Amino acid sequence: MNELPRSYVAPQRVLLGPGPSEIHPSVLRALSQPTMGHLDPELLKVQDELRSMLGAIWGTAPQNALAISATGTGAMEAALVNAIEPGDEVLVVTHGYFGDRMVEIANRCGAKTTVVQGEWGRATDPSVIAAAAKKPFKVLGLVHAETSTGVRQDLAPLAAIAQQCGALLLADCVTSLGCIPVDFDRNGIDLAYSCSQKGLSCPPGSSPLALSARAQDVVKKRTKKCSSFYFDFQLVNDYWAGARGYHHTASSNQLVAMHEACRLVLEEGLAARFERQRKMSEAFVQGIEAMGLEPVVPAAERLPQLVAVRIPAGVDDMKVRGRLLREFGIEIGGGLGAFKGKVWRVGLMGSGATPRNVTLLLGALESLLRAEGFRPKDSGIAAANLS
Ligand code: PLP
Repeated sequence: MNELPRSYVAPQRVLLGPGPSEIHPSVLRALSQPTMGHLDPELLKVQDELRSMLGAIWGTAPQNALAISATGTGAMEAALVNAIEPGDEVLVVTHGYFGDRMVEIANRCGAKTTVVQGEWGRATDPSVIAAAAKKPFKVLGLVHAETSTGVRQDLAPLAAIAQQCGALLLADCVTSLGCIPVDFDRNGIDLAYSCSQKGLSCPPGSSPLALSARAQDVVKKRTKKCSSFYFDFQLVNDYWAGARGYHHTASSNQLVAMHEACRLVLEEGLAARFERQRKMSEAFVQGIEAMGLEPVVPAAERLPQLVAVRIPAGVDDMKVRGRLLREFGIEIGGGLGAFKGKVWRVGLMGSGATPRNVTLLLGALESLLRAEGFRPKDSGIAAANLS
């Protein structure tokens, strides 16, 4: 190397994609505090408090909650590799990219996977899931908030279906925790995982999990050891709540940041946070509809925190997203899988769900759409009710 690069200075972005979401300044400050050892008694105190706060956010007891050093995919893998033993019958419902990823990981865990294939952009009817759950399954897994399409799958009817086939109910809550109610205990969920970088507005790298007493029992009574050492819940839980010895070098910075992020969620209050995100999402949808754009998902099944918008005919996806980033500093997401090139994914999650961001995005989109030859019907900003 001839010349040493300069210290890197990250640009300030407005993060309105499917994640990461905007990080609150006090979470960034928490992240930059001095690093502690992973067995420092001070850090163990942080973990205890974090566990209580995560329990409150999941809607379960503190002893059912923890966080692992991984992103959402790692958490998905951790949940499945602990719950499944090779040869187990597993039922997965999918209507999007992340449901498909769950199928892929279940297969890699050696499961005999039965797939309920739903339509992209729609929730799956519980009666269709119930019809597939006619034989015994070890796990019934699905995605609560499908980030590839912006669909909310109602969790309430699922516990009864899981019970009908003797399965653990496993929910991917990567894009729901902190954005819409999960109600872990009330909905009879056995195993759920999320991430740090969406509804909790914390940088990626740490993922909350929750396990019911039943799921903890199933994990304890496995006939074969979990094939992953890193994700073995028995070992991870020992670090969080048991002997608290060394398992891996957990990042104190990440845990302290997550502690602050969860504190902010609870300071605002879950109900108030959900309501703020709902309002901002509604205002955004009012804005795009006024311009003549169309959300993909029907209102009753639409996630407030992630709105998929159909890209109008003749408008260049990459050009608009590129200019949004370069000229306005705004990141939104493109489509995944079957929706690639067809939709934009707009995230109004956590700290990012603000009137300022909704106005900024509607204004920027309007000007870029005009440049692409699309004539908005009305002003999006004028139509958005931000009060
Ligand atoms: N599950 C869902 C529903 C997601 O939206 C994502 C990521 O967006 C994941 C799993 C994977 O998470 P990560 O990208 O943090 O590994």
